[in-house]
Amino acid sequence: MSAPTAGTLFVVAAPSGAGKSTLVNALLETEPSISLSVSHTTRPPRVGEQYGRHYYFVERAEFEREIAEGIFLEHAEVHGNLYGTSRTTVDGLLAQSRDVLLEIDWQGARQIRASKPDCVSVFILPPSRPELERRLRGRGSDAPEVIERRLHNSREEIAHAHEFDYIVVNDRFEDALADLQTIVRAVRLRSALQWQRHEALIADLLAP
Ligand code: 5GP
Repeated sequence: MSAPTAGTLFVVAAPSGAGKSTLVNALLETEPSISLSVSHTTRPPRVGEQYGRHYYFVERAEFEREIAEGIFLEHAEVHGNLYGTSRTTVDGLLAQSRDVLLEIDWQGARQIRASKPDCVSVFILPPSRPELERRLRGRGSDAPEVIERRLHNSREEIAHAHEFDYIVVNDRFEDALADLQTIVRAVRLRSALQWQRHEALIADLLAP
């Protein structure tokens, strides 16, 4: 018997306000075998956000110590705060054949692509600039200056969309979700994975 197949690492990025978290949460409801990696951040919690569920909220000094200790698979400064992905959590899940999804920015995605070239990356675009602004302002959980900063930074994020394997436009939510589900499904049908999964079937079919 061959070794169990390692899980697939999905990376999803988007400008703030594109609807990434809502889409990812809906995807994970339909694909419970994918684990969402909980990041560390120095950003203060928004109302309703819980430690260990949405993020591990830490002080900057602690985050910097963790960078020095090498605990992050990737880390980046985004909108003035530090964000990072735990190496042991992700590698542990992948080794158990779990698929893992990272919701990170383009800088983190670039680092992941360099260290894990088999990852599958998806960029989510809003349908228009006015709609991006409307969604960002409508969230109601960020201060006006935070919203302005995120709007300003969205151009830089979007300029890197071509580095990703797939681009999904989140105009109609149901269509964008179906696109994400299609990507996951196609990845799972890749021949390298299928060959391992159906080893017994293939051996049987090839038997003289
Ligand atoms: P928010 O503050 O709205 O939760 O996230 C702001 C940005 O930081 C989003 O683009 C989000 O994807 C990104 N982000 C969240 N966690 C991580 C992480 O672990 N690493 C990196 N590089 N970016 C992250």
